[in-house]
Amino acid sequence: MLKFVRKQIIGGGWILSDPKFLTDRMLGKLTTWLRILGYDVLYVGDLNVEGDEDVYLLKHHKNRILLTKDRQLHKMCMNENRSSILIKSNDVSKQLLELKNLINFKPVMSRCSVCNSLLRKPNKEEIRDFMERENIQEDLAKRYELWYCEKCKKLYWMGGHWKNMLKFLSKLKS
Ligand SMILES: [Zn+2]
Repeated sequence: MLKFVRKQIIGGGWILSDPKFLTDRMLGKLTTWLRILGYDVLYVGDLNVEGDEDVYLLKHHKNRILLTKDRQLHKMCMNENRSSILIKSNDVSKQLLELKNLINFKPVMSRCSVCNSLLRKPNKEEIRDFMERENIQEDLAKRYELWYCEKCKKLYWMGGHWKNMLKFLSKLKS
């Protein structure tokens, strides 16, 4: 499987059906965007790594493609046959474009952008608690289809924020 993944990355032009990623500390924003696009992304800043972070990224989660800004680490990965992509740009829109052969630019309401958990439908209490906590007066459940992250106790819906994201992504593609 690893070989297959490497070939696709190096060859370019193929889209993996369901790539999973591991991101380094420099790529927090990219992590969020990839999760919005529905991808399973483990961010090293969310893990309590003891010891050298580079060594950890090199040795663990080998079923995931490592995305890194660190040229040295990328080189080490290549030497150890670990799937890795060196991200060159500092700008998140350009970073996404660097991955354009690998990912679909289509947001899906499936994953929490904060913690990477899969979303589910909320129950009435969860909706009420969230709206009280966030001081939202509008009846969200009436207007929108809602999704819920159990871990963050956070609701998601396709409101104004979602529309802005769609705009951003369609601009990227054109
Ligand atoms: Zn969450």
